Amino acid sequence: MAWPKGSDALDDIAFDLISELDVPKAFEIESESYPADEAATLDAFVQRQKQAPELFLGAYIHSDEPKSGSSENRKLIGYICATLSSSSTLTHSSMSTHEPNGTSVCIHSVCAAPAHRRRGIATRLLKEYLSRLQQASDESENKKSPKYSRVLLIAHDDLRALYENAGFEWVGPSAVVHGARPWFEMRKLLDATRPTDSEVEAASQMLSIPPDIMQALQASLASSSRRARPTARLLSSNAQLDEVLTVTDSSAGTTKVNKYDLLCPRLGCGCLILKSGAAQLVDQDIVNQEVLGSHSQVSSSPSSTPASIPCWIVEPNPMVFENIGFSKSVPQSTEGPKMKYLLCADCDHGSLGWTFEGDTRFWVICSRVGYKAQDT
Ligand SMILES: [Zn+2]
Repeated sequence: MAWPKGSDALDDIAFDLISELDVPKAFEIESESYPADEAATLDAFVQRQKQAPELFLGAYIHSDEPKSGSSENRKLIGYICATLSSSSTLTHSSMSTHEPNGTSVCIHSVCAAPAHRRRGIATRLLKEYLSRLQQASDESENKKSPKYSRVLLIAHDDLRALYENAGFEWVGPSAVVHGARPWFEMRKLLDATRPTDSEVEAASQMLSIPPDIMQALQASLASSSRRARPTARLLSSNAQLDEVLTVTDSSAGTTKVNKYDLLCPRLGCGCLILKSGAAQLVDQDIVNQEVLGSHSQVSSSPSSTPASIPCWIVEPNPMVFENIGFSKSVPQSTEGPKMKYLLCADCDHGSLGWTFEGDTRFWVICSRVGYKAQDT
């Protein structure tokens, strides 16, 4: 790489893929930047560089300090690293396994060295990164299956603006639990099927539509298909329960069932979990608070342990659900059968509720699912 003479360091950031030799330096920046419960290990860094060197991008500045083991007088001040997954959303497994044929780029870290923070390096790195991925996709031999289709990352809410500024959109709470703070998923859909200018021109000639109108039509189609996703309404408090149930009085007593379809609450997922009318409302006594598991929604009172909690109870088997996933069996700390947490089958979001091994009942926590908005 050639450096301009007399360059002022930050005006001349150069971007380049990180070689094996720079991995320890990148790891040093990571360790200085993330709390201990979130930082990756050096071993993980070495693996990522080996598995996906084309996704490990560094930001370098000119340095006069002689550097041992390298002929280049440059210094690493930031980096982005990622691996590939075939999943369209970030889960623990899509973050831990590199799938070489996957088209989702899962970003693990975006980092600038502490001494170079607040100077727009992360934003410049992200823009450079996205532009390289888009270019690699545009150059894919097979136009129908481009190399990369989307870029995914998880962030804490305080970095939302940074990523939005770089072109990412906010998806919602993430299923990933890593460290103590909740994570949110953000993504950038790459323009995979973006027609070339000449294709747009050819199409518009055929249809006698001016190219600019054609572009506008395509943009409006794209946004209306985004709007078509079911939106899940969440309960902001249990006082709203009355709005989402149907009460039936009969000689057998009063039953309260779910008035609306229950959906995965994650924005961008909205997977149908249970049809309306399929579950009954119960106020479930909580003997063992472990059944509540963890979930990544932000809660206003995370530490209070309720004595009972409103749940949709589903019986007598999991076939009643339209879609449901289960965690591995977890032993209870007190006596009793092992528990399994209920998860979204599509995106692993959870926990949405619980069941016990061998039990015919499944408890879905009312405040952890979305309610399909009424068709208007
Ligand atoms: Zn989901």
